[in-house]
Amino acid sequence: DLILHNGEFIQEENLVISKEDRGYQFGDGIYEVIRVYDGSLFTAKEHIDRFYDSADKIKIVIPYTKDVFHKMMYDFVEVNKIDMGYVYVQITRGAAERQHQFPTQATPVITGNTKSVARPVASLESGVTAKFIEDIRWLRCDIKSLNLLGNVLAKQEAYEEGFFEAILHRGETVTEGSSSNMYGLKNGMLYTHPATNLILNGITRRVILELCKELEIPVEETAFTKTQALQMDEFFMSSTTSEVMPIIAIGDQKIGQGVPGELTRKLQTAFQARIQVGVKS
Ligand code: PMP
Repeated sequence: DLILHNGEFIQEENLVISKEDRGYQFGDGIYEVIRVYDGSLFTAKEHIDRFYDSADKIKIVIPYTKDVFHKMMYDFVEVNKIDMGYVYVQITRGAAERQHQFPTQATPVITGNTKSVARPVASLESGVTAKFIEDIRWLRCDIKSLNLLGNVLAKQEAYEEGFFEAILHRGETVTEGSSSNMYGLKNGMLYTHPATNLILNGITRRVILELCKELEIPVEETAFTKTQALQMDEFFMSSTTSEVMPIIAIGDQKIGQGVPGELTRKLQTAFQARIQVGVKS
């Protein structure tokens, strides 16, 4: 497959990245992941808007109009003939002699790749387990930054103990997952952390909140505690690659009956209708 480098599709062996690229040395950049279903980019506009917003928040100027960038993503999927998969794309502040302040002369560097990947149908059916881990990240989690150490360390700890995801919390308050958003359902009401600086406002999250409106599931964008999380009737997480993923236990404690809940199933069905892939994986 070809990779993306500054607007061109090239062979990976021809990619040259400076050792002084600020993405490499400082994690000074941002990224985006867009899902491809049946050869089409899902919620591409929302992902592209967030890519531009994240760049803007760290004062990187993307050297393309959104329309040109959108077409680039579209062509990328086409050139690599991706049917089910995703596009990963990142932009860094570029290469310059190492110093913390922004270089006066640096050209942003965009790289990206596509990947074919099936929907996680088995996990979507069975649900997964997760573990509470203290959220030690910085206070600008609304930026989809390349700096993912806090997320990486949390996921690794969860993974080593056999859990699918880390449920991050600041003190008692649940924020989000290491690479997902978190939701609880109690007495028919859906609770999720508000879209503040403490979480990434997931594109899947936004779709889910729309689906709740359609399905007349009332929503409270209010943070909940670890204790409240354990007392939810249903629990699930969401992300571009995990979709609406039931969480059936937190640590060694079952949520509800320890199986995916009824409203979670409704949201999964509605989500599947949105992506229009039927039962295909
Ligand atoms: N929070 C974090 C920290 C994430 O990394 C992700 C996935 N990129 C999400 C939430 C979910 O966002 P999305 O639905 O846009 O994939």
